[in-house]
Amino acid sequence: MDPLVRGSLLVRRIIRRGHGLALGCALGAYVIAGGATGPLDVGSIAAAALFFALLVPRLRARWSHDRTRSPRSPDRVSEVPILLDVELGVLLTIGLSAALLRFEGTLDGVFSPVMYVLVALVAALARPVAAVLVLGSVIGFEALIRQYLLLEPNFDKLMPHAVFAVTFAILNLAFLRVEVARTRAAARARVEAELRRLKDDARSYRLLGAGEGSADAHAEQSAERLARSSVEEIHQSVHYALELLRRTLGLHTAVLLWLNDAETHFKISELSTESDDIHDAPIAVGDGVLGAVVAKRERVTLSGLKPSYKVPYYAGACPVSVLAAIPVLEGLEALRGILVIDRTENRPFSTQEEELAAQAARYCLRAIQNERVFVQLERAKVEQGKLYRAAQALGAATSEKDVLEAGVRAAREIASFDLAAVTIFDETTRTHEVCAAKSANGQIDDLVGVRFAHNTGLVSMVVQNRFPLPYKGQYDPTHQTVLTRRHPWPKLPSLLVLPLLQHEKPLGTLILGARRRNAFGESVRPTLEVLASHLAVSLSNARMVHKLEMMATTDGLTGLLNKRAMLEAATQKVAAAARFGRKLSVLVTDIDFFKKVNDTYGHDVGDVVIKGLGDILQRQRRATDLVARFGGEEFVVLCEETNEEGAMLLAERIRQELGKTVFHTPNGKLQVTCSIGIATFSPGHVRGVASSASASNKGADSNKSEGWDALFKAADEALYVSKRTGRNRCTAAAPTRTTKTRAS
Ligand code: GH3
Ligand code: MG
Ligand code: MG
Repeated sequence: MDPLVRGSLLVRRIIRRGHGLALGCALGAYVIAGGATGPLDVGSIAAAALFFALLVPRLRARWSHDRTRSPRSPDRVSEVPILLDVELGVLLTIGLSAALLRFEGTLDGVFSPVMYVLVALVAALARPVAAVLVLGSVIGFEALIRQYLLLEPNFDKLMPHAVFAVTFAILNLAFLRVEVARTRAAARARVEAELRRLKDDARSYRLLGAGEGSADAHAEQSAERLARSSVEEIHQSVHYALELLRRTLGLHTAVLLWLNDAETHFKISELSTESDDIHDAPIAVGDGVLGAVVAKRERVTLSGLKPSYKVPYYAGACPVSVLAAIPVLEGLEALRGILVIDRTENRPFSTQEEELAAQAARYCLRAIQNERVFVQLERAKVEQGKLYRAAQALGAATSEKDVLEAGVRAAREIASFDLAAVTIFDETTRTHEVCAAKSANGQIDDLVGVRFAHNTGLVSMVVQNRFPLPYKGQYDPTHQTVLTRRHPWPKLPSLLVLPLLQHEKPLGTLILGARRRNAFGESVRPTLEVLASHLAVSLSNARMVHKLEMMATTDGLTGLLNKRAMLEAATQKVAAAARFGRKLSVLVTDIDFFKKVNDTYGHDVGDVVIKGLGDILQRQRRATDLVARFGGEEFVVLCEETNEEGAMLLAERIRQELGKTVFHTPNGKLQVTCSIGIATFSPGHVRGVASSASASNKGADSNKSEGWDALFKAADEALYVSKRTGRNRCTAAAPTRTTKTRAS
């Protein structure tokens, strides 16, 4: 940006932001120059007009700022700009001083304490920085007036004013702000208590599980919100029923007492009463008439009650003469609460009236049950969503590693845990293996790869019984073993081992551990079980895919690569060797007179011999060499970074080991030999044939395979030379097509 433009923008910004203070200061200067003490002329009227023109919009801005403060954090005074408070403070200081000078002619008149009111207001409402600045302006402005307008020789009169102003500011800051903080804390505590009460209610209506905790704070919040709205819904319905009952039967009180979660106390759930003497405290289950209802699970009616009789929900003397307590039963036996109705008039309840009350009790129970179903449905919807996402993630994962990762990630959405591991059970060897372990601090990383025999540990028992363990999700390290004694599981209070079941067949287990107690309660277990079976299916699919891939690339008889896989890899490797100027050798082996072996000993023995050579090749190769069965009794070995000598040494070792191997057959011992052809790729040239591989680094696929084709052809031709020159020998292809042959 142009410096000139930038400069002009800065000036504009300063003018826009600072014009209020600048004009305020000008007004101040006018007052000091005698504007407020002189005659009431056009100048002083204009100054007053300017003063109000500056003050009114700022007062309005301050007022609307207060009203638009965020309702979530009403205590955030900080949102009011400091500049606005300072401007207001300075303007009011000047205005009040001018008024005092105009009407009293002095700053020490009867109305002079009005400045303290200003200081007190600013200290209470503005931010501390603004308050200090305004206090400074009050004292400073007074000093200037005394010095230049009132021409006082010293500050004798200013000092007490300044001390008072500072004292007012400090007192306000200390008392008012502390008081405001205290009131806010009390309000917060009230809100928290109310929330706790709602949560307790939700538990006693069985809308929330005992000690239930969700995977994350957000889920917990939404579960609470749901329970809260249900509790409110229940209270409304119950209150409506009780009110109706009270008015219809002419009752003094109709109250629904509800049993707490631990079944030790009743609490007033809702009531409709004419009394103002209700005792709203928990009532022990055995108390008075309630004890009788609890014991018998039957309706109890009392009449002719005296004031001395103790009715648990009245604080003082008994105001009623008749009372009926009706148990609220869920199912046949489960007592959930008691509906109590009473009236002052000594007229016993008729059967019809009692039946009406019983119906009201059933209605209250149904209202609670309905909300419970609603909460469960809502919760099921959320769980379904989680499982749906888990199924999608698991379905997209094709490798075992991806499946395990997706599974653990999905489990984290359902329950919070600190450790997770997956074990796989091998039915043929009856061993378990830990194939994945996850923890934040790597606590169980070293368990990966641990194998252990089927034992009496929790993992083995879960696989055997196909049922999650431990029963309550609590881990007792002194009595329980998770894997084996040799590989202890970290001592965390919560543990859950879930079977990975596919069509009832146990593939292994998913183990979860948490530092939090009761982390795997009833609210998360069923969902985790479903997730575990999803995981099992995906795991088995991934293994199947892996198996198919293996089958497509390996030879069934020898377990080595097949021709297709070798061609794919070899083409790439030859191209890479050409590009990076590396050596590469290829060996082609063929068993001598193999037809005869088949004819004499049969095909099965022939297969054993083929497998025998495959094993020798597997043993003799280096880790970087590729070995493939190319067809029949012909094998190919591809050796990277290997020159002709190295390849010849390897070929010799192979030839000699096969020659020494004795195959035991039903028709006696059998020994075979093989012939080997070798070709080496040197950058720019294939021994034996002019290299076309150098063209391969141009990138075209056909060129790539030409490189391999030429190399293979050279090795095959060398093999042919081995055969022609007597078999049981190794031949390296040479550029001149003369051959170097080594034989026994
Ligand atoms: P040479 O020394 O010239 O190699 O003679 P050879 O008899 O070994 O001839 P060749 O390599 O052409 O013979 C291949 C024989 O291998 C043909 C076939 O009967 C046999 N064969 C091919 N595949 C299999 C197989 O999977 N199992 C068995 N047992 N024999 C096979
Ligand atoms: Mg052959
Ligand atoms: Mg052969």
